[in-house]
Amino acid sequence: MDIEWGNEIVTIHLKNVSKRYGEGELTVNALHDVSVDIPKGKITVILGPSGSGKSTLLNVIGGLDTISNGELSVFQQNITHLDEKKLTKYRKDYVGFIFQSYNLLSMLTVKENIEIGKELSSSPLQLDYVLEKVGMKDKADKFPHELSGGEQQRVAIARALVKNPTLLLCDEPTGALDEETGKAVLELLQDIQQQEGTTVILITHNPGIAAMAEVVIKMKSGKLASFEENANPIPAKEVKWV
Ligand code: ADP
Repeated sequence: MDIEWGNEIVTIHLKNVSKRYGEGELTVNALHDVSVDIPKGKITVILGPSGSGKSTLLNVIGGLDTISNGELSVFQQNITHLDEKKLTKYRKDYVGFIFQSYNLLSMLTVKENIEIGKELSSSPLQLDYVLEKVGMKDKADKFPHELSGGEQQRVAIARALVKNPTLLLCDEPTGALDEETGKAVLELLQDIQQQEGTTVILITHNPGIAAMAEVVIKMKSGKLASFEENANPIPAKEVKWV
């Protein structure tokens, strides 16, 4: 069941979630008793210093990692105790990932790199539609080394998008980009959220980016430090780059 949250439908529900790495004295509490609800079809930004648990939070939501304690449900499914096979299916059916590094295959063209995402999906979108969406139609036959950093990130976004994901998880997607290119990538993510109704969760070091999000989560030492709603998110191109 979707859970009502104000006027929103909550899609991602974490209750007392902890994630530990290692054993005994070497134990790291990457997430410590985190309870939070993330709404559907909005942009949520996660801020926090390095090592505060941001990537761990994104990875457990995306089914790349499992939690040690607590409860986690996404899109009406309790994914707390899914086995590896079911987690793989969950990622395939629902989740697109975008990272700071583009992870494109250098021997493959733009089109072929995006095809990889298509093969990972049960209900992929048309390649041409996605190429058009990320503004890379003219460069479909180029190789990654022929592209700028911003263009490579667009291809990585297209590879995630072609899966037709309900949830787009972005870990520092603009971390390696300059202001102009970074903002263009953020505009693309905002477009996707507004036009496709995709739930976007975005980790960033750049607090200026928080202004384009409807929800801002701050992490500190593995704990949820704050949760704020923003009724008037700004267009990505107006983000102050800090
Ligand atoms: P952030 O994304 O905010 O930089 P992370 O979620 O990557 O933080 O990491 C939180 C803490 O968990 C850090 O102390 C980190 O070293 C630790 N950690 C993350 N992943 C692992 C792992 N696979 N094995 C051991 N420790 C980890």
